[in-house]
Amino acid sequence: MKKSILIIPVFAFLLVTPVSAQNVRPESKESTYQNTSFYDVSAVNRKSFRKKPKNIILLIGDGMSIPQIYAGMTANKGNLYLNNFKHIGFSRTYSANRYVTDSGAGGTAIATGHKTKNSAIGVDSANIPVPSILEIAQSNGLATGIVVTTNILDATPAAFVAHVPNRNMMADIAVDFTETGPDVFIGGGIEYFRNRKDGRNLISELSSKGYHVCDTITELLKIRSGKLAGFLTENRVSKRGDQLPLTTEVALDILDDHKKGFFLVVEGSEIDGGGHSNDIAYTVEEMLDFDRAVGKALEFAEKDGKTLVVVTADHETGGLTLVDGDLKTGKITGRFSTSGHTGLMVPVFAYGPGAEEFDGIDENTSFFNKFIRLLRLKQ
Ligand code: MG
Ligand code: ZN
Repeated sequence: MKKSILIIPVFAFLLVTPVSAQNVRPESKESTYQNTSFYDVSAVNRKSFRKKPKNIILLIGDGMSIPQIYAGMTANKGNLYLNNFKHIGFSRTYSANRYVTDSGAGGTAIATGHKTKNSAIGVDSANIPVPSILEIAQSNGLATGIVVTTNILDATPAAFVAHVPNRNMMADIAVDFTETGPDVFIGGGIEYFRNRKDGRNLISELSSKGYHVCDTITELLKIRSGKLAGFLTENRVSKRGDQLPLTTEVALDILDDHKKGFFLVVEGSEIDGGGHSNDIAYTVEEMLDFDRAVGKALEFAEKDGKTLVVVTADHETGGLTLVDGDLKTGKITGRFSTSGHTGLMVPVFAYGPGAEEFDGIDENTSFFNKFIRLLRLKQ
């Protein structure tokens, strides 16, 4: 009798412990990263902008909050392109059913303005499809683009073009990608377009829709107009090199030709990977790679004067704590507390016309309405 009294509370505890909390690591080790490839950051100084933006570049660092940013800033001796932003806020990331979101619900909130259940893509919490800012921009005649460093069908990019109850439905997401048809999309995942159970060859469908379909970076960098479907392999930055900043530049070059303006999403997809792997080197290198893509967006926006640049994240990954560092040498020591995501707020940085709208603390669903209003889009 006494035994069962003791056992019941133990089982009750296991039953109520959320999945995310099971990832928590009570004793994680510190690890140190010493940066060796530093880069200079140019300042953007433009003081006056027109009232409303013609173009929006939204950059999402998957798994990036203050710890990842400051780890990157320390590793680059205090300098990041992010240092240029004067309008800064915070975004609350919880989903419709969890305090700790995944990238499906996080991406859907940013893209559609609806909090939804974890794992859902482009549908509300009742699984009803809801239009994304990219789709609405497209139906208003703007050009659109998506550039990522992971599978193009992964949750964050998918949230802008697809409508499925679960992020694992890659074959369906590939169909939504082909049918929505952003002018430019660059990422991995060609096998879901080519080798399909339904017998469709989405690569041929894209070609017949007028896309340049490329599967090497050399080939892709030559495309500077028309429609582009770029399929690149997914790698850590050590093998990928400058792919993200370079492909961001290609996308801007193509989209800039459109008279009605454009909406471009760029994702630093693998900051999240560094967090899940509890790997400080991986985290910092991906953070700095993403920052260089932010630099490309800022340089474009400074010249152009009609482009709003917004940088944010879907959630933090790894529960990273910075326990030591050296801003003079670019050394950073960190400790992770989970192999999953955390519930932290994430920062929002904005530059250009309408940037002041992003000051303060707001929900992750607020981006959608602000973008609609600023671009004066009809829904
Ligand atoms: Mg992502
Ligand atoms: Zn993740």
